[in-house]
Amino acid sequence: MAAWFRGAMGLTLSVSLLTAPFSSSLPTNAQTKQIDPVFEVSVAQLHLRLMPQEETVEPETEMPQQAEPQKVDCEIEKCIALTFDDGPSEYTLGILKSLHKQGARATFFALGIQLRAHPDIAREVVLQGHELAGHSYSHRKLQFLSPTELENDFNYVAKLMEQAASQRPTMFRPPFGEYDQQVIRAAGMPMVLWSVDPKDWLTRDEDETYRRVVSEAEPGAIVVLHDIYPSTRYAVPRILKALKKRGYHFVTVSELLGEMQSGEIYKSRNDVKN
Ligand SMILES: [Zn+2]
Repeated sequence: MAAWFRGAMGLTLSVSLLTAPFSSSLPTNAQTKQIDPVFEVSVAQLHLRLMPQEETVEPETEMPQQAEPQKVDCEIEKCIALTFDDGPSEYTLGILKSLHKQGARATFFALGIQLRAHPDIAREVVLQGHELAGHSYSHRKLQFLSPTELENDFNYVAKLMEQAASQRPTMFRPPFGEYDQQVIRAAGMPMVLWSVDPKDWLTRDEDETYRRVVSEAEPGAIVVLHDIYPSTRYAVPRILKALKKRGYHFVTVSELLGEMQSGEIYKSRNDVKN
């Protein structure tokens, strides 16, 4: 991907921040007075795909040839789970392409708002053998919602996921990794956090994202990334290549952790060993 393209994306982002009122498309029960700084950024990114991109869109459609991913026993093999939050977005397709090339599987913690916008991409995630899970409707801090709002949020995301990918979520990652007892109860699912956080959402830097993931990776780790940034999309093939060379197998969270319990919180494979 040429540098001019990323420059152009930056420009588009600035324009979209100024021009696109996003909250008008949210349903009433998902409206909020609070604006989370991280989601604010994500919303801006969402607008990238709504803007005309004529000459800048890279063809992501053709699928590279690679063998089917194989079953892995994480008890004896070096496993790691790459997870992608806040999508699906247009960058998800590029990430899927890179995963396919390396025979890698991953887990996508989708926002309901993004499932509504990209049901086709969500379906593709599942069709390609990856795991799709919930990450709330619109990335609000769930501990500030009422029990009814919480229930609506979980139900709506489940419905959107079922419509898009013909399956309901079986695990959950709370926005910002924040939760309380009420959120745990309302989720009624295992909660999956992470053990490696390269802060790709903060740096938006391909090299830095690559460097942090590769230096902090360890067997059994769950890595949190975001499939809404071009920098992350382009770091992924490099991460896959480097870790594969070290003998890692890329598995879904369910493959890494095995059977999970509702109400439990998991950050890595260490949380299920004992
Ligand atoms: Zn998130």
